[in-house]
Amino acid sequence: MSHEPGHDPNCLFCKIVAGQIPSKKVYEDEQVLVFHDIHPWAPVHVLIIPKQHIATMAEVTREHAPLLGHMNALVPELMKQLGVTNGFRTVMNTGPDGGQEVYHLHLHAMGGPRPWLKG
Ligand code: C5P
Repeated sequence: MSHEPGHDPNCLFCKIVAGQIPSKKVYEDEQVLVFHDIHPWAPVHVLIIPKQHIATMAEVTREHAPLLGHMNALVPELMKQLGVTNGFRTVMNTGPDGGQEVYHLHLHAMGGPRPWLKG
């Protein structure tokens, strides 16, 4: 079956990008989608994902630097928008030993009153 370039029809987060699986959307632009994590580790926990399918940070190259920069640079304004005023944490799990469960690149951004830190 043909599909759009950069889209993996078997990928859960590609299905969220395509609107085939619902998500609690926080922000969207041409490059990224941001939504609330369904099992939050913190009072505020969002995932920033690229719209194009990149399975894991291990596949990232220097060509992806603008996209990775964009994902990270959005975090302060997203946290502010979500009422996080006293600091936040960003995490990107990579591969089996990195604890990655969903193989579509995603940056976790978490904040809110502690204690909630995991690991
Ligand atoms: O970094 P890792 O791959 O372990 O994290 C995947 C994250 O995706 C989990 O925090 C999980 O709760 C979240 N998730 C989600 N919506 C889904 C499936 C997973 O927010 N439909």
